[in-house]
Amino acid sequence: MKCYAMLGIGKTGWIDKPEPECGPLDAIVRPLAVSPCTSDIHTVWEGAIGERSDMVLGHEAVGEVCRVGSLVRDFKPGDRVLVPAITPDWGSVEAQAGYSMHSGGMLSGWKFSNFKDGVFAEYFHVNDADANLALLPDGVEIADAVMLSDMVPTGLHGAELADVRYGESVLVIGIGPVGLMSVAGSALRGAGQIIAVGSRPVCVEAAKKYGATDIVNYRDGGIVEQVNGLTSGRGVDKVIIAGGDNDTFIDAVKLCRPGGIIGNVNYLGNGEFIRIPRAEWGCGMGHKTIAGGLMPGGRLRMERLSKLLKYHRLDTSLLLTHRFTGFEHIEEALLLMKDKPRDLIKPVVMI
Ligand code: NDP
Ligand code: ZN
Repeated sequence: MKCYAMLGIGKTGWIDKPEPECGPLDAIVRPLAVSPCTSDIHTVWEGAIGERSDMVLGHEAVGEVCRVGSLVRDFKPGDRVLVPAITPDWGSVEAQAGYSMHSGGMLSGWKFSNFKDGVFAEYFHVNDADANLALLPDGVEIADAVMLSDMVPTGLHGAELADVRYGESVLVIGIGPVGLMSVAGSALRGAGQIIAVGSRPVCVEAAKKYGATDIVNYRDGGIVEQVNGLTSGRGVDKVIIAGGDNDTFIDAVKLCRPGGIIGNVNYLGNGEFIRIPRAEWGCGMGHKTIAGGLMPGGRLRMERLSKLLKYHRLDTSLLLTHRFTGFEHIEEALLLMKDKPRDLIKPVVMI
């Protein structure tokens, strides 16, 4: 089969590979629509998870089931399915402990385009199909639904990690597609003031539509000074980090009030350490929690998040600035994510 792969650090291309095999609990799915992710960029061009050769890229897809294993109960060939980016082994002890995304070891629930071939192929393999797939609900567009693989669950997880509550002030640093879903997630959870940090005008406009009350352009000066200006110097209750770099934690700690939580979903692609400002962290006693997490996957979460689209609580179509039709456009879409033109939020490729 034809696939688009990471050939090595800094190198991608089209390759041929044998079709994946289907174990008793698995499904083989063909993609109906896919989207490249900023994580693919960290993986290939920053070598963030180390060397990989001829590994099929991509972990965001809606697909059609082609084959199922003998023990799969709830899915059959022809079903149109949502495929989460994270597909844990649900029988693992880590899943039993509530951290399915780390089933089998830290980050090991993230299999596509990490430990096994991803979705930029004519066919891809889904482990634990009954526990990881979800049916595409009637009335939800396939292109919009691709955002349920990763952007919606990750952005909303930022709001979960920060435990956003009614009326709280929330700072969302980074408003690419992930941060935009953190803005939307904070609004859905009842935040009061939502300050969004970014510079691309298309993202700024979307952030306002998703519920941002204030915008900070980090290119216009320090985030700390600008946010203090908007909060009478008091900072915010919660911070969600969905962009920036390792030093973004310095600003986040400075701006988080005692008792606050910093929820990070940003994938830190390089560097050895993250610095935390000692005095602003209360000399270690400030009750400022730092939480970071990989998005949770699995069927139940996919089914629930899909209801946000079905019942019009969340409109993911605002994210889709670039639409392609045809498998051969995967490369173009991926390179858009690498180059991040000013008018881009997220590309989608209809197969
Ligand atoms: P984008 O690159 O599209 O967005 C990044 C955002 O951060 C933009 O708004 C950008 O602003 C802003 N930014 C860049 N530099 C700075 C800075 N120095 N200070 C403040 N803001 C800055 O990324 P995505 O939304 O696609 O993804 C966000 C992150 O989430 C990525 O690292 C991705 O790998 C990760 N991720 C994590 C997952 C998880 O499970 N935890 C899953 C999926 C993705 P500008 O407007 O100027 O571009
Ligand atoms: Zn991703």
